[in-house]
Amino acid sequence: MKDQFNRTINYLRISVTDRCNLRCVYCMPAEGVTPISHSEILSFDEIMEVVKKAVSEGVNKIRITGGEPLVRKNIVELVRMIAELEGVSDLAMTTNGILLPKYAIDLAKAGLQRVNISLDTTDPARYREITRLGDIDLVYKGIAAAREAGLNPIKINCVIKKSALEPDAQLVAKFCKENDLQIRYIREMDLENGQFWKVQGGDGGDCKTCNRLRLTSKGMIKPCLFSDLEYSVRELGAITALETALNEKPKNGTISKKNNFSGVGG
Ligand code: SF4
Repeated sequence: MKDQFNRTINYLRISVTDRCNLRCVYCMPAEGVTPISHSEILSFDEIMEVVKKAVSEGVNKIRITGGEPLVRKNIVELVRMIAELEGVSDLAMTTNGILLPKYAIDLAKAGLQRVNISLDTTDPARYREITRLGDIDLVYKGIAAAREAGLNPIKINCVIKKSALEPDAQLVAKFCKENDLQIRYIREMDLENGQFWKVQGGDGGDCKTCNRLRLTSKGMIKPCLFSDLEYSVRELGAITALETALNEKPKNGTISKKNNFSGVGG
């Protein structure tokens, strides 16, 4: 499908939960965010209604995000439901990796193809400081589990302040080189002030060639991360919400006062 600026929109990012087992300083306040109530969270069947419509219109790339997607109950089942859909050629997940030892093999069997794992430093004390809760050894075990399960490629999402030359980013780059992992540098974004940059090593943040729509865990279809435009699947129905989001997709991002990364999935 094409938007009004003739961009090909073939990518749907699905945030399946706003909850997370970490509290990264650039994403969530220390106390976390007030979780969305279960009744507000889309069921798998509701998510699949959107996915089926999107795939029938040309979406072939799906990414599952959160919060932390692996804290969503029965997440392997949703992966299976999406993977079984004809037309999905690329099914990926963005995760902090901590629960991968528990789920990697089942996810791969269910049809997940690849993962992006968040790692902003290899210094254990810094990792604890950045994530407020995390144990870096669990991420290493997660990377090993993903590799063992055959999820490929494994990309490392490294959040930077300004430059890939920052000490933490350099540590991650060295780790990725030594372990044959692809690294992507994501500069810290500021939704309220409209500050964002292209992802280094990825394709996010380039409005000219933007190919994505987002589905939030509350059932909002968002044409753009840096915009407050959103269309409710429950109010409008999956088809109208998708079509409206496509037709209203802005030429480029500006600001968002409504969004937070844990609720939209970056
Ligand atoms: S800011 Fe909006 S239009 Fe630009 S790349 Fe991000 S989602 Fe696409």
